[in-house]
Amino acid sequence: MQGQLIGMEALLRWRHPQHGLVAPDNFIGVAEETGLILPIGKWVLEESFRQLISWQEQSLPESFRRLSINISPKQFIQPDFVDQLEALQQQSGIDSSLICLELTENMLIENIEAAASQMRRLKALGVHLSIDDFGTGYSSLRYLKTLPLNELKIDKSFVHDIRTDASSLTIVETIIAMADSLDLEIIAEGVETQADQELLESLGCQHFQGYLYSRPVPAAECAHMFTSEPMALLD
Ligand code: MN
Repeated sequence: MQGQLIGMEALLRWRHPQHGLVAPDNFIGVAEETGLILPIGKWVLEESFRQLISWQEQSLPESFRRLSINISPKQFIQPDFVDQLEALQQQSGIDSSLICLELTENMLIENIEAAASQMRRLKALGVHLSIDDFGTGYSSLRYLKTLPLNELKIDKSFVHDIRTDASSLTIVETIIAMADSLDLEIIAEGVETQADQELLESLGCQHFQGYLYSRPVPAAECAHMFTSEPMALLD
């Protein structure tokens, strides 16, 4: 059905006492380099589960399928990453199919064997696996076919130019066709206008995310979306 909220994505912001709200672009790189991304990533996972429990208590809409969580490369290759997730799942009692982990192409391709085995373990837990910013990295079709994936998210840079740049349009068409043939779900990121959505729909894309539906909002303010009109993702 059109216009339903099917999920949320956990986004990180840093409220700094002197500098105000700091965007992830300005601290994630340093956090990756210094290894601080590990405690941050663990906190994000814990907080996401906690949030999901609280939303469940406030009653999620029936259309809600998943909370998506961005996973950093360093976090993903931790030998105990899957154990951490499993422990959280058991403590919280959250159905793991309500969790989607967003990975990036390059972190999978850099060590494909290790990534594939990690993904198989995650899949066995029942979590949904997605490739974020798809189209900006170096995946090959062969890898995509081998990995236990559920979903591709079309990078917002292509969606942004889709109506003005013929090559972006071609890339989006190709990604959608590829996802179709590999039986993967697809979400277009960065949808800003109704015209973007209509064009994407005409290409066969059915799930959307972007400012057209909602800007990022504090978790505490999300619950109103479950009962009112504005949407983060449309089905
Ligand atoms: Mn993401």
